[in-house]
Amino acid sequence: MNLDPQLLHSKIKDLVIASTKVAHVQLGNSLEHALLVLIKSGYSAIPVLDHSYRLHGHVSTTNIMNKILGLERFEYEKMADYTVDQVMTTKIARMKDSDEFLKALELSINHPFICIEDENGVFQGILTRKSILALVYRHFRQLPYPAAENQVSSPEAT
Ligand code: AMP
Repeated sequence: MNLDPQLLHSKIKDLVIASTKVAHVQLGNSLEHALLVLIKSGYSAIPVLDHSYRLHGHVSTTNIMNKILGLERFEYEKMADYTVDQVMTTKIARMKDSDEFLKALELSINHPFICIEDENGVFQGILTRKSILALVYRHFRQLPYPAAENQVSSPEAT
């Protein structure tokens, strides 16, 4: 396959779903709150930020359910004992918005979404595998690239 070097080295900025449109939780939030945001948003995992909007990890429904999994049942009463920082995944796919598309393509093999941060670790938004695939597809079909704003996924489909 002969991928156009121009595509591979292009900046990912235009594909990013802006932080204002990304469902997230904050360090210290309760598991109950995180589960509510996850269920309401329809996403299986969302970023965890601090009060300064710096990125610390992401939390998923699976992280939460695993924490309250007892021997024979989910011990929902345990949700009050923990906060998201105690269950979140910290080894996540993250990039700077100045990074090249090739890095995003590589990370998207194993991650449904990539968190984008600035030089100070401040969260800028996310890049989804879906938008990366859409870009590659449109590139090969020689179609114009849509802006990330037009690709915000419908949560029901997640
Ligand atoms: P998609 O490729 O659109 O299905 O998105 C892949 C994953 O990215 C979802 O399962 C979520 O974990 C995350 N995601 C996508 N859009 C958002 C959003 N607006 N807010 C929070 N997380 C999102």
